[in-house]
Amino acid sequence: MRELIIDLDAIAKNLGTMRAKTNGALALAVVKADAYGHGMIPVAKKLEAAGADYLGVADINEALELREAGIDLPILAWLHAADENFIAAIDAGIELGLANVEQLERVAKAAAHLGRVARVHLKVDTGLGRNGASEFEWPAVLKTAHGLVAEGFIQVVAIFSHLSCTSEADDLRQIARFEAACVLAKNVGLDFELRHLTASDGLLRYPQAHYEMVRIGVALYGLSPFVENTAAEFGLVPAMTATAKITQTKRVADGEGISYGYLHRTNGESTLGLVPVGYAEGLPRNATGKASVSVNQKTYAINSRVAMDQFVIDFGNDKVAAGDLVTIFGDPAAGVPSADELAAACDTINYEIVTRMGGRFKRSYLGEIA
Ligand SMILES: *Cc1c(COP(=O)(O)O)cnc(C)c1O
Repeated sequence: MRELIIDLDAIAKNLGTMRAKTNGALALAVVKADAYGHGMIPVAKKLEAAGADYLGVADINEALELREAGIDLPILAWLHAADENFIAAIDAGIELGLANVEQLERVAKAAAHLGRVARVHLKVDTGLGRNGASEFEWPAVLKTAHGLVAEGFIQVVAIFSHLSCTSEADDLRQIARFEAACVLAKNVGLDFELRHLTASDGLLRYPQAHYEMVRIGVALYGLSPFVENTAAEFGLVPAMTATAKITQTKRVADGEGISYGYLHRTNGESTLGLVPVGYAEGLPRNATGKASVSVNQKTYAINSRVAMDQFVIDFGNDKVAAGDLVTIFGDPAAGVPSADELAAACDTINYEIVTRMGGRFKRSYLGEIA
């Protein structure tokens, strides 16, 4: 009765669309956070079949899940607990994004223990202020890495960083700092094959900063990384459609208060339809009074309070029946609200809308590979 329909063919197509905007850079497909709510394993299998060069996740546990599912692509994980020992990750051939000397030393210890060479990507903070070595720390990180390469514990595969996309001037400053950090790495004698800086937003804005690899997240799922541009402007196709079937309809009198707080009252005798989706499924409670859904090709406001399990639509005198399909969001080309519209209504971004969808929604896949 609640279904997230995930179009895997759209995801494969979006990979191709984004890749075509680069000059042959490798494509790292970001599948962290359960592939932004789309289901990590089916999405990763599809991306592997569609020719992604790398997969990217935040946590090592996500990377290990991918390996356990039989995925052979190179996988990069970049967000680690302070006491992470890295043994399982190195043993599974996971590449590690590392941001400081302590992490490098822990990785070297694990590699020595396993008798393997760990493949690492050194992360420099060029001005996002999140993870990555600061400019103060970078020389020590490079020196340590160089020593551990010489000892045979690690191989430095790449230098990487992440843009803030705050303004063009800020991003150009980050690009310059990134290039300087890479030069510094070369100057200490580090050999690395890859530089990667841009995510979906930077890929679209800064062709000069694609380097050898780009990291594509939200655009794979057919969403625009910019609030001021639609996905369609970039040729991207939204992959998630959130639907539910009306569980019950009933006729009520004029002036009845609907749902908690009576934020809506019927205006004349009306038909109400109950939709079994609430904030437990990830529909924000503050969609109340702001967002709309589509039923039988018509748009209806969510004008009464979204509860934990359900919300109510006032259909007035429109014809509607239990079992009718409600589309909460999907591809606007199909005439339904977009994730962007729901996000704007809830004062957030499309990333958060798709990623938070879960709860009792069942996922079903279009274009699944065997
Ligand atoms: C999440 C993430 C990405 C993907 O970003 P999108 O904006 O979704 O393309 C890329 N790189 C890093 C380091 C990330 O954390």
